[in-house]
Amino acid sequence: MSFSILGLHHVTATVDDAQADLDFGIDALGMRLVKKTVNFDNRGVYHFYYGDERGSPGTLWTTFPYKLLGVPAGTKGAGQVTVTSFSVPSGSLDAWKKRLREHGLNVTDAPPRFGEESVIVADPSGLLIELVATTADTRTAWLAEGLDADTAVRGIHSVTLTEADPKRTFAFMQEWFGFGAENEMDGRTRVSVNGGGPGKSVDILTSPGGQRARNGVGTVHHVAMAIGTDEEQLALREALLKKGIQVTPVVDRSYFHSIYFREPGGVLFEVATMEPGFMTDEPLDQLGKGLKLPPWEEINRADIEKHLPPVKY
Ligand code: ZN
Repeated sequence: MSFSILGLHHVTATVDDAQADLDFGIDALGMRLVKKTVNFDNRGVYHFYYGDERGSPGTLWTTFPYKLLGVPAGTKGAGQVTVTSFSVPSGSLDAWKKRLREHGLNVTDAPPRFGEESVIVADPSGLLIELVATTADTRTAWLAEGLDADTAVRGIHSVTLTEADPKRTFAFMQEWFGFGAENEMDGRTRVSVNGGGPGKSVDILTSPGGQRARNGVGTVHHVAMAIGTDEEQLALREALLKKGIQVTPVVDRSYFHSIYFREPGGVLFEVATMEPGFMTDEPLDQLGKGLKLPPWEEINRADIEKHLPPVKY
């Protein structure tokens, strides 16, 4: 293979209220807002990126807050990322339950899975977020107020793909991304890439009722995998096209370059480059402070700023 997938890059969700989303991501989960920009495909909507200090691929959770813009609530189901899991240090779950409840969130224990305990919480838009306690994540956490290195989120642990035909999705991920099966329980197959572990794992879950997912508020829009270079991305794109798989041209997302295509079960996959990263338009200590627009939208800045809901954080 002339290209290789390094792990997860980011997960992007459609959410409701912008301020509620910031309060959840920054204050409750303690992630760093590393970029405040607009949806490059719809400049009337924010695009928030949360992650570690520098917004490293594999730590990134991103949202489009669509409140009052006519997007209906989505439906969770087959052909969708139904749960996004973040890793936290082993032994921190009691502290997390307390913290999340103090933020008015409903948090419950999830059944232990593959030797790791976790809790599950719904964000203000109804997205399912898990915190998985693990000793396997050596990434350096961003330390928000009230959190220390023994508690703070380290990054994305894994995502759960709910699928009507899990075998077909696994075969696709194996063929194109090099994922291998790692473990299995209760209709769930954990697959991993590039050595596995947090940030490099995906759970493929058999859909219980087979109900199809519908994209909308409160659902994950897509999951992105990380690829090392633009050259590898082009090689993957060419290979997909040769097999008759529809894939977008390379899209400039300012902070990375992306291609998009659907896996056979319907989940929208993105493959995004590691570079150039979030310091292209703000220094490290200022990440997330200003409203950043792609160069082609600067001409519309006054209009954009007038129409976006005001937020504080
Ligand atoms: Zn994306």
